[in-house]
Amino acid sequence: MSRVHSYIGLGSNLDAPREQVERAFDELARLPHSRLLARSPLYRSAPVGPPQPDYINAVAQLETTLPPLELLDELQRLEQAHQRVRREHWGPRTLDLDLLLYGEQTIDHPRLQVPHPEMPRRAFVLYPLADITPELTLPSNTPLESLLAQCPFEGLERLTSDSQHREP
Ligand code: ATP
Ligand code: CA
Ligand code: CA
Repeated sequence: MSRVHSYIGLGSNLDAPREQVERAFDELARLPHSRLLARSPLYRSAPVGPPQPDYINAVAQLETTLPPLELLDELQRLEQAHQRVRREHWGPRTLDLDLLLYGEQTIDHPRLQVPHPEMPRRAFVLYPLADITPELTLPSNTPLESLLAQCPFEGLERLTSDSQHREP
């Protein structure tokens, strides 16, 4: 089975969001047939959608031989384990795990679109991704750098390891 580098976007804005995200990194590190290669710094971002608390966001780089839909199953299982409840579209959640990139692949399946279609518009995805892999090129041959140039660092705050110990 082939080994790919995949990237996963983590987000939480309920029930101690930083702990949810830190725990999720540890859980990603334990996924079968996978190895966690990198954790981005944590960011705080202003919410999109209905009024709700700020988010904590981060990106993980995972080396895996799990096929994409099996990886999605694992991510959804972890969301469930964090007691995620789906009430409204883009509503508050304890943990959201989005499969951002899966190697060089473009996937268009009813359950899974990769690259994640909203990526180019989301500072809270692009900046942590650039922290891990600044030289990244997306499947469309678009350099991450050019997406960053069009996506202002707006409503985003990078948390230092110092501020990471303070409450939101
Ligand atoms: P957004 O996708 O805009 O960030 P969201 O994360 O709030 O919104 P969810 O409710 O978490 O959306 O997911 C809805 C469905 O999206 C999931 O059931 C899943 O099947 C599907 N989906 C499609 N592409 C992806 C992807 N790349 N990563 C995760 N889920 C995906
Ligand atoms: Ca999401
Ligand atoms: Ca999601």
